[in-house]
Amino acid sequence: MATPALRDDFRLYIDGAFVAGEASFESLDPARGMPWARMPAASAADVDRAVRAAHRAFDDSAWAELTATQRGRLLTRLGDLVAAHAPELAELETRDTGKIIRETRAQIGYVAEYYRYFGGLADKFEGAHLPVDKPDMEAYLRREPIGVVAAVVPWNSQLFLSAVKLGPALAAGCTVVLKASEDGPAPLLAFARLVHEAGFPPGVVNILTGFGEECGRTLTAHKLVSRVAFTGGPSTARHVVRNTAENLAYTTLELGGKSPVIVFADADLESAANAVVAGIFAASGQSCVAGSRLFVEESVREKLLAILAEKARRIRIGDPADAATEMGPLATPRQLAHIEATVAASLEAGAALVTGGGRPAGFEDGLYYAPTILACAGNEVPCAAQELFGPVLSVIAFEGEADVVAKANDSPFGLAAGVFTSNLTRAHRLIRKLRAGIVWVNTYRAVSPIVPFGGYGQSGLGREGGAESIRDYTRTKSVWIRT
Ligand code: NAD
Repeated sequence: MATPALRDDFRLYIDGAFVAGEASFESLDPARGMPWARMPAASAADVDRAVRAAHRAFDDSAWAELTATQRGRLLTRLGDLVAAHAPELAELETRDTGKIIRETRAQIGYVAEYYRYFGGLADKFEGAHLPVDKPDMEAYLRREPIGVVAAVVPWNSQLFLSAVKLGPALAAGCTVVLKASEDGPAPLLAFARLVHEAGFPPGVVNILTGFGEECGRTLTAHKLVSRVAFTGGPSTARHVVRNTAENLAYTTLELGGKSPVIVFADADLESAANAVVAGIFAASGQSCVAGSRLFVEESVREKLLAILAEKARRIRIGDPADAATEMGPLATPRQLAHIEATVAASLEAGAALVTGGGRPAGFEDGLYYAPTILACAGNEVPCAAQELFGPVLSVIAFEGEADVVAKANDSPFGLAAGVFTSNLTRAHRLIRKLRAGIVWVNTYRAVSPIVPFGGYGQSGLGREGGAESIRDYTRTKSVWIRT
């Protein structure tokens, strides 16, 4: 059979024009394990052109003289365009990352809402009048856009993770160079056409893809960049922080997680099990908030494990483009190899396999891994200690509140936590003690543009989403006037 030709119409978006980029690379279809498209790879020179375009556009009257209301209207229009083009964006994300179509469709609906939310917020972010103790003086604060923003996103949920950066940045009046991941960049490169159609002046939004070392490093270290908004892994984040030693850009980091989900004996076990399954197996576990450590009260451990194992075995694995599929492949061969190696090391370290633990039969061509549950003695087992970013749940028993708080907090990460109990006063005690940026009680994974998102510890610095996130894209100017 002849190999199908690679799709070759993806372009970089620099200064309002779609350009080929100096190099290119093949993007893999994870469901088939074959390349399906050729992507442009931005060189250091491409990055430099994009940053200079953003720098010029920042002061250009076509953008700088727009009122906040006008900027808001552009963002709202962008949100409407995302909603109108949701089916094709969802298909591209599914094709390029292997994320199932049900999830990409649902998430792109949210993406439109985030742009509309920040569009509505643009002219509601106010400065302040300061009542200084000087009768002949007026003092007030202006909030001014910080400058050129370098936004860097990982391969999972690229449209969503860029909306929480572009939305507040553009609402504040900044200009942006957005770097899509080199894995699965198709949806963001297609999104560039919607930015163009929405009518943002040239250079206000530039969208690139390329490799971390050349494209990512050049961008985050660039002297004309004033603000870096990064989402990715903790080790890359350390490179990014070193890069910003060059420009001293104000930096926010959204990093990994090893989020605990805690189930007490008094919880509705069926409902908790549904949330645990969705919390770890959605997106094949490739989610920063994946509830990858389950802490279950000893008295219901066996019962909950049986329910979970049954639900995990029933998950329908298949082609991510099929709307009936409940779990698709992993996004990259690197991910698959990491998960295989960590599960093997965990079994060697004494973890007991409850279900899964390998590649599912019949899916040898794609990057599939079965929904896996491992019973572990404690957090030291590799699958409970490390972020796997895959469909692997580590289950650890506990006895009492103090024990579970100590175990849940025993991680360098602190992104999210889930608590399942029918005792609301106990839930409040845990909310106070858990070191996590988000605590969900009797639910898991709820998100909204109105609610901030971000972690404690190694899970990051700063918050995305919510009205306050605009502040991080502004500088305060203090004004004194003698009257
Ligand atoms: P990654 O850190 O490998 O890559 C992230 C981005 O950084 C990519 O665009 C990459 O090209 C770029 N990059 C790589 N080297 C760079 C360098 N030296 N300078 C600048 N940029 C560079 O992450 P990944 O494997 O693509 O994604 C998975 C990670 O992302 C996981 O750890 C996950 O938890 C995290 N994540 C966090 C959140 C959150 O909101 N907290 C959301 C999604 C994913």
